[in-house]
Amino acid sequence: MDCIFCKIINGEIPSKKIYEDDKAIVFMDINPNIDGHCLIVPKKHYTDFKELDDEIILHIEKIKREMTDKLMKKLNVNAMTISMNYGESQIVKHVHIHLLPNFIVKMKPEKSVDEVYEILKSED
Ligand code: AMP
Ligand code: ZN
Repeated sequence: MDCIFCKIINGEIPSKKIYEDDKAIVFMDINPNIDGHCLIVPKKHYTDFKELDDEIILHIEKIKREMTDKLMKKLNVNAMTISMNYGESQIVKHVHIHLLPNFIVKMKPEKSVDEVYEILKSED
């Protein structure tokens, strides 16, 4: 399979790993949005986060907590954004979580809360 993250996992292409176990790997993003931008990647190729089974979800959650502590401590920051791109914004189709130390995203909404609430609670 022509997947860049599978190639990193099986050692075909190099990466700057900061954590690895039998089920997952954490490495530095090659094109970081901020200092310390890392990715948590399950070793098994899942395309969509909805394919993840409970065991790997729990496992990733544990790594998320450990890596958050590690990055915040080592980089001496007191903020962390943990995110997953999905749909069109997911460029690499191998599930991964972004760890973004000290990254603060502030976007301006286009609609009022009431307007969006009406949309969300309307019948499908
Ligand atoms: P996305 O799929 O949009 O959540 O983002 C994919 C992320 O993978 C981007 O932030 C890329 O910079 C990163 N990326 C792509 N190729 C590599 C690579 N070979 N090593 C490390 N990070 C990568
Ligand atoms: Zn893959």
